[in-house]
Amino acid sequence: MDPGIKYKRVMLKLSGEALRGQHSYGIESDSLRSISLRITEAVEAGVEVAVVVGGGNIWRGVDAENDGMDRATADYIGMLATVMNSLALQDSLESLGTLTRTQSSISIQAVAEPYIRRRAIRHLEKGRVVIFGGGTGSPHVTTDTAAALKAVELNADLLLMSKHGVDGVYDSDPNQNKDAKKFEAITYMDALSKRLQVMDATAISLCMNNQLPIVVFDLLKEGNLMSILKGEKIGTEIIE
Ligand code: UDP
Repeated sequence: MDPGIKYKRVMLKLSGEALRGQHSYGIESDSLRSISLRITEAVEAGVEVAVVVGGGNIWRGVDAENDGMDRATADYIGMLATVMNSLALQDSLESLGTLTRTQSSISIQAVAEPYIRRRAIRHLEKGRVVIFGGGTGSPHVTTDTAAALKAVELNADLLLMSKHGVDGVYDSDPNQNKDAKKFEAITYMDALSKRLQVMDATAISLCMNNQLPIVVFDLLKEGNLMSILKGEKIGTEIIE
């Protein structure tokens, strides 16, 4: 590991929206490439990187439920969307020469390995980026929860949350309120009680119970990820 790097193993939660870029739907190749470049830089510095990919750029279960679809079915479609994004990220990373493995929580063996914890850890130890698709494999939760669960299960040192156009946690929506204030750090309890909509409550609780620090930041801004890995304060830290 490069000198000055503070975290050995990190979990990156990449929202589907981050892959969408300027498009209203789907995947923008420029965003995908930028994300892959940032991840590659971290891997080259010797950091073990696991990624949980969301699917909101393609499908959200709750929206389909509002349109009358059975919720569990709608959520399974959402999980398939996360697998699609995972494969796109895998392709993009490998085009840069970065080794990856994709594991899915829902069985889809033609394109992804099944999720096997010890195998995932082995891949990470070998310097491969492990991309997790399929969320938790269960409906009624989000990929935030999947990222927190897998981060804890894989003994990650940090959970990195990257959403489209979000560079931290604010006291109100910065798109609606120009005086919105960004927090440098907040506690898990504040994140839960103030309902700051930074990530879902189940995910925050899991991190709190396992003292896993979270950083909410803008992955697309060059240098941000490496700075965080070196212990600099970027975005918003959610801690005890
Ligand atoms: N989903 C699910 N279980 C999971 C993870 C995801 O049912 O463990 C479904 C759910 O319908 C969700 C969709 O997949 O709306 C896309 O995931 P998410 O909303 O977390 O993606 P993101 O907002 O991060 O892009």
